[in-house]
Amino acid sequence: MRIDLRSDTLTKPSKGMLEAMMQAEVGDDVYKEDPSVNRLEEHIAELFGMDSALYFPTGSMTNQAAIKIHTQPGEQLIADKYAHVYNYEGGGVSFNSGVSCRLLDGHRGMITADQVEESINPPDFYHSPLTSLVCLENTTNKGGGACYDFREILKIKKVCEDNGLGFHLDGARLWNALVVTDESPKDYGAAFDTISVCLSKGLGAPMGSVLVGKQKFMDKAMRVRKVLGGGMRQVGFAAAAGLYALEHNWQRMDEDHKKAQELSIALMKHPDVAHVEPVETNILIFNLNANANELQFIQKLQDEDIHISALGKGKLRIVTHYDYTDQMHKRFLEFLNTY
Ligand SMILES: *Cc1c(COP(=O)(O)O)cnc(C)c1O
Repeated sequence: MRIDLRSDTLTKPSKGMLEAMMQAEVGDDVYKEDPSVNRLEEHIAELFGMDSALYFPTGSMTNQAAIKIHTQPGEQLIADKYAHVYNYEGGGVSFNSGVSCRLLDGHRGMITADQVEESINPPDFYHSPLTSLVCLENTTNKGGGACYDFREILKIKKVCEDNGLGFHLDGARLWNALVVTDESPKDYGAAFDTISVCLSKGLGAPMGSVLVGKQKFMDKAMRVRKVLGGGMRQVGFAAAAGLYALEHNWQRMDEDHKKAQELSIALMKHPDVAHVEPVETNILIFNLNANANELQFIQKLQDEDIHISALGKGKLRIVTHYDYTDQMHKRFLEFLNTY
């Protein structure tokens, strides 16, 4: 029994999802004639109470498209130092948009309104890059699945409005945050100009992300997607997987969160473990003791066919997801409790 907790992107389509894909009605999406893609876009726009949505192959592309839409070359965006848009999108911010990043030293990947306000370059001071966009991430990936306090998001929104800045959310795992916090998708839709959501993480679709936003920004999204090479044809087969995932795999995410919690408790008792970061959703980051050997720790798990990620410097990561079954969970807990 292989237990793969390196990422929630490793999930494979279930039988039910595959059947939904097989039955999808399709057309040419570049002509906007794919009924399944159109349905997914309408569904997500409605869910967030936003004007329109557009289906993309990846979450990197939705983020990069949003950055392109909100900025001009030479300008600057503000984000946390852990931001996916800065760390894990291949340098796309500079490559695609010619934009620099002002990185803030936030807490677990989250920044505050005060930090944002202090980091805006004065628009009339032409020596510095013009600040034009703020990007948040929720939940945070490198920050260990932490969720923003929505009140802070509203404060940041106010700073953006007062300073004429775009406000984008990298909501790759917003689905997880929505399950554990009190806000609704419409609250998020009302707060941001654009939001990117992934269908390929905990929701378990094989691919796809959606950019949803205000019309003023979405007007440019089709062109930018084309420029980035993201126009796809009979992609309704994949969009149908996304629709299926929202219906069947979203509200069950609290099971993934519960499993991550239980693993964190077992890890706290483990003699090789120095510190476990608080678990809020499905990501669990922990540090080994200085005298514990990271490679040996991972090897011992691999000998049991249990796979997790090393983030370097004794930091390890576990991500729970719907392919991580109760049976696997039981076995992993047993293993952690016998050392
Ligand atoms: C996974 C992820 C993305 C998008 O990744 P793709 O692999 O390009 O779909 C964006 N932001 C965050 C925080 C992510 O975890």
